[in-house]
Amino acid sequence: MECGTCGVGEKVEIAAKIIRRAATRLAKCHRLECGHAWHLEVGTSDGPQHPQGVDEPTRCTCGEIAIVNGLLVEGRQHAALGPDLTEDAFKRWLEQVLEALDGIPAEIGARSLLQSATLAVKPHKSAIGEQVISLNKLLGRAIKAVS
Ligand SMILES: [Zn+2]
Ligand SMILES: [Zn+2]
Repeated sequence: MECGTCGVGEKVEIAAKIIRRAATRLAKCHRLECGHAWHLEVGTSDGPQHPQGVDEPTRCTCGEIAIVNGLLVEGRQHAALGPDLTEDAFKRWLEQVLEALDGIPAEIGARSLLQSATLAVKPHKSAIGEQVISLNKLLGRAIKAVS
């Protein structure tokens, strides 16, 4: 779907969660790759169809992903900066990422998200830019895990 914050272009959905279900209406939270999330309400097939099909999406208010989502938004900005990203800004962000990932379960059989993150940022293993990309991927998995 298109992200109301990022603007033009389709964004891949990391996860979707039904947040409200009424007799004829269904509200879903769509969590996008950019780190933003949108709520969309649609009519269910057995209810009267909305004349325009669907309503306008509204900004996500889900508490359980607010922190991880915010960090992913920041991570996308870091990735866009490329070599201009300062080590200081990266370290500040990294600290919060590690804290947020701690306690979020990984997929069954997978290494824990915190462990993966720690491995991804081993000193001198890869450039900061690559570390940001790895961490963004882990944040995406975290969003999926709590959805
Ligand atoms: Zn967005
Ligand atoms: Zn939401």
